[in-house]
Amino acid sequence: MTAVDHVTDGRRLAAAQAAAREAGVDALLITPGPDLAYLTGYHAIALERLTCLIVPAEGDPVLVAPGLEVPAAKASPLGALGIPVNGWAETDDPYALVATLAPDASTVALADSMVASTVLRLRDAMPSAHQRLAGPVLRELRMIKSKGEIDHLRRAGRAIDSVHEQVPDLLRPGRTEREIGDDIAEAIIAAGHVSVDFVIVASGPNGASPHHEVSDRRLTVGDPVVVDIGGTMPSRYCSDSTRMYALGHAPDEFLQYYGVLQEAQRRAVESVRPGVTAESVDAVARTTITEAGYGDRFVHRTGHGIGLQTHEEPYIVEGNSEPLKAGMVFSVEPGIYLPGRHGARIEDIVVVTGDGAESLNNTTHDLVVVDAAFSS
Ligand code: ZN
Ligand code: ZN
Ligand code: ZN
Repeated sequence: MTAVDHVTDGRRLAAAQAAAREAGVDALLITPGPDLAYLTGYHAIALERLTCLIVPAEGDPVLVAPGLEVPAAKASPLGALGIPVNGWAETDDPYALVATLAPDASTVALADSMVASTVLRLRDAMPSAHQRLAGPVLRELRMIKSKGEIDHLRRAGRAIDSVHEQVPDLLRPGRTEREIGDDIAEAIIAAGHVSVDFVIVASGPNGASPHHEVSDRRLTVGDPVVVDIGGTMPSRYCSDSTRMYALGHAPDEFLQYYGVLQEAQRRAVESVRPGVTAESVDAVARTTITEAGYGDRFVHRTGHGIGLQTHEEPYIVEGNSEPLKAGMVFSVEPGIYLPGRHGARIEDIVVVTGDGAESLNNTTHDLVVVDAAFSS
């Protein structure tokens, strides 16, 4: 934790106000979620009662919150930011209150994660205000991580790496994916995360389904196993890393394409630097896999941004001509999937640096073969 972070010194709010002015937005209306956490450091729980940060393009932000949430809001970083908290009583209309606090707004931008019922109530309360999404206004800010944010993501990367280092001890013939997944979830918390976001243990044929989670399938000797895991750290920044394991040995057919996958992932990471487009990184991975004859087996995009959310911009996908900039953080995770047989994916989180990329995940990319004889 740094004493002075962008959250508590108000620079993010000032930058958001500048972005709103540039976008022709009079006020940002931000309900609990990643945008509120990003702008203020306030990790409010999303309740049916309205909590909403009003960030006018000019002037001072104010929070509207249910009366019972006021103490928590004031104790949050909102206090240090000097943002007034406007509590509402159970019989008040909080939507009308928001309307009175943004009286002249003709265009408002709503947090992308705002629930539909809130969107419609705000529309009724502010009938003359045109509603837009805040995502496009805040995307540049959210995509370019500060040094503090990169530190948080670096710690998240080390934490999930330490979990991958324990995985070989958990893989034994006869254990189910679910049993192994439960142990991994415990290890994710023990490694310093505050929550487990997902645990994928995809053995044998289940590895051919990219978003398989866990099942009651028992591991057997000769299984390749995809382990894709992630959690949220106390900083609220997320981890996400995939590694490949095998029990005893892996089928020859698997080993043939696994080498291709390693090369595709490595080349894609090596292609990352400021100025190249997001889609070109996807193309590097895809071309390598396609030239080896597995192009139709790489069935998803190459990666996604990560930060306060596991999946956020920039997406590393064909059609995204966004030029990469220093401070962007995203996954590079090509995969090859043979339906009914097995599959493989290798995933690292990388930061775009001044002249290349820094990988936040640093465990081996080699297939980790667990000695099945010793591990039953
Ligand atoms: Zn995913
Ligand atoms: Zn991922
Ligand atoms: Zn993943």
